[in-house]
Amino acid sequence: MPTHTQTTPKPDAIPGTLPVQLDALTKQFGTGERTVTALDGVTLAFGAGTMTAVMGPSGSGKSTLLQCAAGLDRPSSGSVTLDGTSLDGLDESALTLLRRDRVGFVFQALNLVSSLTAAQNVALPLLLAGHRPDPASLAAALAEVGLADRASHRPSQLSGGQQQRVALARALISRPAVLFADEPTGALDTKSSRTVLGLLRGLVDQHGQTVIMVTHDPAAASYADRVILLADGRIADELPTRSKAEAIASRMAVLEEQA
Ligand code: ADP
Ligand code: MG
Repeated sequence: MPTHTQTTPKPDAIPGTLPVQLDALTKQFGTGERTVTALDGVTLAFGAGTMTAVMGPSGSGKSTLLQCAAGLDRPSSGSVTLDGTSLDGLDESALTLLRRDRVGFVFQALNLVSSLTAAQNVALPLLLAGHRPDPASLAAALAEVGLADRASHRPSQLSGGQQQRVALARALISRPAVLFADEPTGALDTKSSRTVLGLLRGLVDQHGQTVIMVTHDPAAASYADRVILLADGRIADELPTRSKAEAIASRMAVLEEQA
């Protein structure tokens, strides 16, 4: 545990700065004949206090887009600006600090530490960063996801939906400007999915946070303000504000056929 902690220097607050901007993003994996182009020139901006769903056939580049946008992976070319900071010139340690302070992640896999309680799991990012977690903010984070009475339960004592809510509380403890979620409801039943999606929507509506969520599920995507459809690493389409699940499903079906 470090004896002193660093924080990411906040950029000068530029009014109207977008939380996430992607400019001509490309990402290739492998070299030579084995090269796979996962992203092929994606330019996108995500406004503050909006929820965007990213959909598309399997292998269309959704996870790669999220990983690059969140600073978990580096693009082959193009640029990412996260909460006013360009990631281009950042070294690994600066990137780590930026991720820790400004970004939250939720993944499909319920990756909680099984030997820790719900509260300890939520506290983990703070502990790892060398901060002493404040019990009141831990309790508040668990209360926000409806798990105030489960603080001392271990993951094995919680349902899948409850575990994902713990993961959400953990992602929110630092009040990140942007929350990235890769199929956050992929492993959940319908009822738990609705709870998690309602919570994500609440972050946007009540706290003005920005949510970018990859999903396969048109019903999940219908919670978003905007749906981006990817195909072969490019933006194939964009569906308007709060599209109905049926409209999303039929547009997806066309893309799946073409894939
Ligand atoms: P999606 O999330 O839409 O299913 P991905 O972003 O995971 O798609 O993958 C896009 C393409 O990039 C796929 O062809 C995939 O096989 C490839 N890909 C993703 N990650 C890697 C990696 N680490 N190494 C090699 N190829 C990868
Ligand atoms: Mg994926």
